[in-house]
Amino acid sequence: MHEISIMESTLELASTQARNAGAARVCVITLRIGTLSGVVPEALKFAFQALAPGTLAETGELRIESVPARFWCAACQAEFQSENLLAACPKCQTASRELRGGRELELASLEVE
Ligand SMILES: [Zn+2]
Repeated sequence: MHEISIMESTLELASTQARNAGAARVCVITLRIGTLSGVVPEALKFAFQALAPGTLAETGELRIESVPARFWCAACQAEFQSENLLAACPKCQTASRELRGGRELELASLEVE
């Protein structure tokens, strides 16, 4: 399962950063996940529950920020949002192939203490 390995490296990164900061535990891990990243937030939460025990994030919380997909319309010179990979501009109906966001998969922030 893809989400398990994502969570493994996230927890590793969080623990390293907490140790470097001299913290005893990780309170909140916030991940930014694009709606087109292919990652299932529920599966990530499940992976967190399965993997967090025994790490510095054992008593911590996982938060997931969902990032909508953004496309660029060259005709309107504007961005628009869509959940569909084959998106058309809502103003002029031109199909856009230029994805500007929505594939994010990153650690947005970390709270340690
Ligand atoms: Zn347009």
